[in-house]
Amino acid sequence: MDPQEVITKPYKRLVSPHDPPLRVVIVGAGLGGCAAAIALHHHGHDVVAVLDKVRQFTRLGDSLGLGENAYKLLARWGCNIKEIQEIGNQAPTMKIRRWHDGKVLAEQPLMDMAGYIGHRGDYHDIFLKWVRERSIPILMNSDVVSYTDTSPTPSLTLSSGETLTADLIVACDGIKSLARHLVLGSRDDPVSSGYACFRAYFSPSPEMRADPSRNAFLNEDSVNFWIGPDTHVVQNTLRGGKEFNWILTHKDEGDIPESWFQPGDMDEVRRLAADIDPRIRHAIMSTEKCLDWKICYRKPLPTWVSPESHRIVLLGDSCHAHLPTSAQGASQATESAGVLAVCLSLVESDEVKVATRAYEKLRFPRVRVSQTHGEDLRDRWHNVLKNVEEDVDIDPEMVKIKASTYLHNRPLYAFDAEKDAIDKWEEVASRVRAELATGKVGPL
Ligand SMILES: Cc1cc2nc3c(=O)[nH]c(=O)nc-3n(C[C@H](O)[C@H](O)[C@H](O)COP(=O)(O)OP(=O)(O)OC[C@H]3O[C@@H](n4cnc5c(N)ncnc54)[C@H](O)[C@@H]3O)c2cc1C
Repeated sequence: MDPQEVITKPYKRLVSPHDPPLRVVIVGAGLGGCAAAIALHHHGHDVVAVLDKVRQFTRLGDSLGLGENAYKLLARWGCNIKEIQEIGNQAPTMKIRRWHDGKVLAEQPLMDMAGYIGHRGDYHDIFLKWVRERSIPILMNSDVVSYTDTSPTPSLTLSSGETLTADLIVACDGIKSLARHLVLGSRDDPVSSGYACFRAYFSPSPEMRADPSRNAFLNEDSVNFWIGPDTHVVQNTLRGGKEFNWILTHKDEGDIPESWFQPGDMDEVRRLAADIDPRIRHAIMSTEKCLDWKICYRKPLPTWVSPESHRIVLLGDSCHAHLPTSAQGASQATESAGVLAVCLSLVESDEVKVATRAYEKLRFPRVRVSQTHGEDLRDRWHNVLKNVEEDVDIDPEMVKIKASTYLHNRPLYAFDAEKDAIDKWEEVASRVRAELATGKVGPL
């Protein structure tokens, strides 16, 4: 479906099959929480509040991709996705280059990779606006400190002492999710991926723009990758050169904390970038400051749904965080939002647990494909040039995004998560009902 086609048709919100509609509270107003609010609202459910612990949002993060698989759903839910497309990277293709000299090893459409790459903070602003346009309250400074998993109405408590109940609580509380501990019954510790990223995002100064040793990628929107043994650099130039971002992924032998805010060591960056293609080298080396993001895995969770009421569910990074090379964190959160909303519309009010258990069963295999694509791509990029002579040509398919798995898996981007949920509903729901009847819900 062409998303533009959808937004030119008059938008119509669906009517909930439940009377009264299910009351839903969402924890976390990140991109996942906003997508959940918009999807649930579209399907007629009553989103009573989206809670976030921070007092206000700031422009955090840097490049984030939103793929066709996400924006086709957002368009269907009545969002004007042109607002995203206009501020996303306008380059038609991305180039994958050899580390030390920049030789182009492969080129492919940007839409095959991450869709529209823009600043996470800018995309977040738009998602928040879409939530507000639907008159869904976003309650800031609302720090959820505990959950009570009682049937039929679970509850949560804020640091203020206030307690909220709902028919369903959707915990989109990110990589360090508190709700995840409730669902698992124990803490799950992050597992180092063995890599971290140095990242910088800034507006180039007039001096940098005028300097031929640093301005090779500043004239227009562009995306380039330089791949080398155990390392790669991503460069993303946005807004016709007004904004510039580089991300250097490196072996993580140190012990930096898992944080979005950890300052990076520019001396170490300069050491790592000393032999990269000179056209990007000086732009990186002259950067004043950067962040150092440790890239951690979470082991796939055995469940995303609370054990007693089955009415507290995880969504987004709280249950399916991705590596940066997947470029699918926000897109998969959006898919999960659509599938949860669809499942809730396919059950009677007293069968919410069938919907939530079907949701996790439908989503788990899909996000595993998306997560492993990111691991596969990183490993191909980091290994392809090892022990290869300078004059030997690399097969472009070896370094293209999704190249090795593309033939074996359904392409990520053409997927319609809501349609898939409807198509598989009968089979999955009957499996869930059988499991619930025995009282033994199988692990994911
Ligand atoms: C600061 C930051 C920067 C990021 N930068 C990038 C980037 O540059 N590129 C990229 O691809 N991805 C980035 N990500 C990750 C990306 O945003 C996510 O993968 C994707 O959007 C799905 O996120 P989410 O909504 O599940 O979680 P998040 O985006 O992490 O949102 C979780 C939200 O929950 C709130 N929250 C957490 N705990 C509580 C609680 N107890 N009570 C109430 N609220 C709570 C948090 O304040 C936050 O707003 C970033 C995430 C963060 C938080």
